[in-house]
Amino acid sequence: MDLKTLATPWVQALQPYQPGKPLDELEREYGIDNAVKLASNENPLGPSPRAIEALAGQLGELARYPDGNGFKLKNVLAARHGVDLNQITLGNGSNDILEFLAHAFVTPAHEVIFSAHAFAVYPIVTQAVGAKAVITPARNWGHDLDAMAAAITDRTRLIFIANPNNPTGTWLGREALKAFLDKVPAQIIVVLDEAYFEYASDPALGASDYPDGSQWLGTYPNLVVTRTFSKLYGLAGLRIGYGLSHPDVADMLNRVRQPFNVNSLALVAAEAATGDTDHRERSLQANAEGMAQLTAAFADMGLEHIPSVGNFVCVKVGDGAGIYEKLLRQGVIVRPVANYGMPEYLRITVGSHEENRRCIEALATAVQG
Ligand SMILES: *Cc1c(COP(=O)(O)O)cnc(C)c1O
Repeated sequence: MDLKTLATPWVQALQPYQPGKPLDELEREYGIDNAVKLASNENPLGPSPRAIEALAGQLGELARYPDGNGFKLKNVLAARHGVDLNQITLGNGSNDILEFLAHAFVTPAHEVIFSAHAFAVYPIVTQAVGAKAVITPARNWGHDLDAMAAAITDRTRLIFIANPNNPTGTWLGREALKAFLDKVPAQIIVVLDEAYFEYASDPALGASDYPDGSQWLGTYPNLVVTRTFSKLYGLAGLRIGYGLSHPDVADMLNRVRQPFNVNSLALVAAEAATGDTDHRERSLQANAEGMAQLTAAFADMGLEHIPSVGNFVCVKVGDGAGIYEKLLRQGVIVRPVANYGMPEYLRITVGSHEENRRCIEALATAVQG
């Protein structure tokens, strides 16, 4: 008996997500130490000290189940975004919210639209529920909203838009996005994935008309905005993110969610991290400086990059797989993006000054030989 054939046909056809290589795995395999990981868009400053303090205070409570409604954190988020508590859905990472959306709203009879080179979780959650993925071509590596609007059919139920997009770092401005939302029929849910919202809204990165989608929830009842504590807030390991939406949408998302999907450590750490403007400012400054450091070095090496407003940047190296391997041997982990249809590129996370320096040095060696 081939047990795999018992899975649904769509699960059998699913291509698993490829995570960045963990540091200790590289060090074990290649017999090196002091490796640098710039592969998963993690914050090089680590979490907010306030989050760490809150975690320490919570450890004695671990025998208890978490608050399944996340009441305290939701209150903080509601005040911050000017929404009601019943518009918030908490997730075990914001990827959890993306999965709830597919489970709650999409059947095998539906189509889900997203762009080429968009975040890898969209095809996975679409395929997992047996729906048809409609992938529109990119324009200058970014989302082509005209192509996305033209792809809408009677069967479309969900549209995923990453703003900015991972891995390309491209972003959509206020007017373009609003014009698109005006066109989308009311029965189609539009997900605005704002995992890198804090970076993209940093004036230093230059996206002057980058919009805050959460402001549009009152205008577009079919809009869902997702945010995460994994990126700027440096809490990727704890797994916590959230969705903001119309209360009816949130009601449906909360029905498919496991009762205790967000753990008690994540809840207190996120609450503490939200108020830490000092950590936020330091993180943004380090990112802007690191982005300038990396892109200046690419230019020196004669390598093109895709302008990015995230904490990562795609650089054109030609043989992405070959250069990736050469970087690994020098103890630098970056992210190959061939699975995103970008075999000539590598995605590099903006690290600390020293991590960026190590990466630049290794890249210079790799592209020469
Ligand atoms: C990192 C990322 C997420 C969120 O990841 P979680 O850790 O699950 O919150 C969502 N969307 C994009 C585009 C991302 O890059």
